[in-house]
Amino acid sequence: MIPAGKTIGVLGGGQLGRMLARAAKQMGYLMHVFEPQAKCPAGTVANKEVNSAYEDIAALSAFARECDVVTYEFENVPAAPLRAIEKLTRLCPHWSVLETAQNRSREKNWLKRNGFPHARFAEVAAGGNLEKGIREVGVPCVVKTADFGYDGKGQLKVMLEADVPAALKRFTGQPVVIEQFVDFSCEVSAVVARSALGEMQVFPVAENIHTNHILDFSIVPARVPKEVATRAEEMAKAIAERIALVGVMGVEFFVGRNGEVLVNELAPRTHNSGHYTMDACNVSQFEQQVRAICGLPLVKPELKSPVVMVNILGDAWAKGEPDWAALQAQPDTRLHLYGKSEARPGRKMGHFNVLAGDVEFALARARVTKADLYR
Ligand code: AMP
Repeated sequence: MIPAGKTIGVLGGGQLGRMLARAAKQMGYLMHVFEPQAKCPAGTVANKEVNSAYEDIAALSAFARECDVVTYEFENVPAAPLRAIEKLTRLCPHWSVLETAQNRSREKNWLKRNGFPHARFAEVAAGGNLEKGIREVGVPCVVKTADFGYDGKGQLKVMLEADVPAALKRFTGQPVVIEQFVDFSCEVSAVVARSALGEMQVFPVAENIHTNHILDFSIVPARVPKEVATRAEEMAKAIAERIALVGVMGVEFFVGRNGEVLVNELAPRTHNSGHYTMDACNVSQFEQQVRAICGLPLVKPELKSPVVMVNILGDAWAKGEPDWAALQAQPDTRLHLYGKSEARPGRKMGHFNVLAGDVEFALARARVTKADLYR
């Protein structure tokens, strides 16, 4: 066990690192952050911020030596440098988990090999025959770059035959995964935690509404039949066990119109759709992450109230600082800002959680509050 007073390191200094740092410091740990860009959101609340490229093995090694455990909060941290530091500290989750999850080809093949349901797919290597791949899966489909994809970046829906030329133009030459388009009834996700001893806990599934490929609302409890929620939660646990997770992982699912549950994506870190836990559960996903990587017993999550989480994007700053007064005047609405100085369209700047006795009521209030912010 790594007790309070020891040092936790995180690779990546975004909002997930910041909220982890807050939780860790509250629990009595020291927090170090490694992030290429200076003055990052996590750095401002950490005890130490190191700004270097992830590929700078000397800097990364020095960082690792100062930490009792190192985790990551960003999917696109290159896995190769992590191999170099695994002998210097405890790295959780293992670099191989990141390596699998950060590349869509490896991720999809891992799901296939391990028998987890997923959308049918084909892979095309760099310079391979993209059109053949599209034909193999059939239209409608979604073409996704194999590397560095998140929040819908690097993907294109091919809904009609007429969309094929655009996909060929954009992706020819690149390694891609082509997925069958899933006509889902909704998307849900589950955040699961697993400790080195194999103890596991899963947070209640969230129902997620995306706008322009970016998470907009997470609704908890998800408005899906109990069996669907249970199947997703159990599958998240089975994935965590099979991949030998030590830490926290977000698992995204499509729920088909016939109730089938398909895995869309794995993220071996805390997840945007788990931010509701900060105000609506007896333990947040960030505290649970600290517990998992430090070998403390996990807390069994309990939902204290129905909740809707809303992301606040940089677009809300189009006419200057948003007017927070109306939001903050609501006692059951909690604001979390990430301390980012520059608000760009699409950039995640913060989120708020609306708590209410009823999830539909929470959603209605969340929509009104969001509309007021973007006015
Ligand atoms: P991803 O970055 O793969 O999670 O994709 C972002 C969003 O695009 C998902 O949350 C879905 O809303 C949509 N999407 C991705 N893949 C598919 C698919 N195969 N079928 C339908 N929608 C998809």
